Amino acid sequence: MAGAARVVLLGPPGAGKGTQAKLLQDEFGAAQISTGDILRKAVAEQTPLGKQASGFISSGALVPDSLIVNLVAERLKEKDCAKGFLFDGFPRTIPQAESLDGILKKAGLDLNCVLSVQVPQNIIVERLAGRRTCRKCGAMFHVAFNAPKLDGVCDSCGGELYQRDDDKEQTIAHRLQVYDTQTAPLVNYYRARGLLREIDGVGEIDQIRARVIEALGDLVR
Ligand code: AMP
Repeated sequence: MAGAARVVLLGPPGAGKGTQAKLLQDEFGAAQISTGDILRKAVAEQTPLGKQASGFISSGALVPDSLIVNLVAERLKEKDCAKGFLFDGFPRTIPQAESLDGILKKAGLDLNCVLSVQVPQNIIVERLAGRRTCRKCGAMFHVAFNAPKLDGVCDSCGGELYQRDDDKEQTIAHRLQVYDTQTAPLVNYYRARGLLREIDGVGEIDQIRARVIEALGDLVR
């Protein structure tokens, strides 16, 4: 990316943050930091973090801020973040956003944009219920809108596709409620700091990608 983009992708689960972050990472080299991907890997590997986080994730609740903030502080020290980073699924609470401000300040950095991806709730439910995720590389597909070439097999790495427990219908409603109460207040938090840019997240993946690039403007040109 031109300069180093330091961006938060903000939006409810199923807004397309992960899909767009992966495309931007491939195209511009800024590191995608998905706290959800990091946590799922920790759960699969049964690390101490994974063991602490697993119950929260499968019930659709948020993992405690203290665990998340440490994980992000460590991740930001990795070399690939020097070219910029795109947060996907972080911050999710006001205390996380405040901690992020502190971590970046200590490193002499700041955020240069928070991109809010807007999608109505009925479309989100449809996207999450049909979503399939690769166990190996985290790539995402949809049974109807973005089907893999071979049923159950990841186009990118050949890994097995599965339905996340928290993408099952009974958990989706809870996740959306958690988003409304705990994460949506971040829109005003970042608007008040002059960092917020908003895009319509409804449409084809490529159309949305074009809107993302347009909204990021100079940060990716
Ligand atoms: P995601 O893949 O971003 O939808 O995250 C999946 C799940 O991981 C969430 O429902 C939470 O249980 C947990 N999680 C991911 N990121 C965070 C975060 N920043 N704060 C708290 N919990 C998180």
